[in-house]
Amino acid sequence: MSKDEGLIIRLSKREVDWLIKAAQKSYPLEICGALFGLINSDGRILIKKVVILSNILNSSVAFQIDPEEFLAELMRSENEGLRHVGFFHSHPGSATPSDIDVKFMRLWPESIWLIISLINYEIAAYRIVNSEVRNVHVEII
Ligand SMILES: [Zn+2]
Repeated sequence: MSKDEGLIIRLSKREVDWLIKAAQKSYPLEICGALFGLINSDGRILIKKVVILSNILNSSVAFQIDPEEFLAELMRSENEGLRHVGFFHSHPGSATPSDIDVKFMRLWPESIWLIISLINYEIAAYRIVNSEVRNVHVEII
């Protein structure tokens, strides 16, 4: 579907394990949240903080982040010196963005969209570049 644009995000194994556990607990409902971090001089994005926020749709096929929770977390994280770099959500299926995901990705073209599959625990990330969906390389350390 997409070409790799060379963008890399780095996420800790501990955060990945924590997210998978939370997603398993809510399965088949999708969990969602926001990613905060720092952008290195080499352009690499370091995820420093992952926050799970309420999925107000309570759905297994879509998510919508509670806007008030997101705003509160955005202000808290900015005070901590972190930038909002993207969003994550879980899929009961594969880690490929749905048509709805792509629609919302277009509204947040700077953001990284991380998806966790509960089939195989694959973690994939995407971003819109020149209105195309591109893969983002996820480095787990
Ligand atoms: Zn999705």
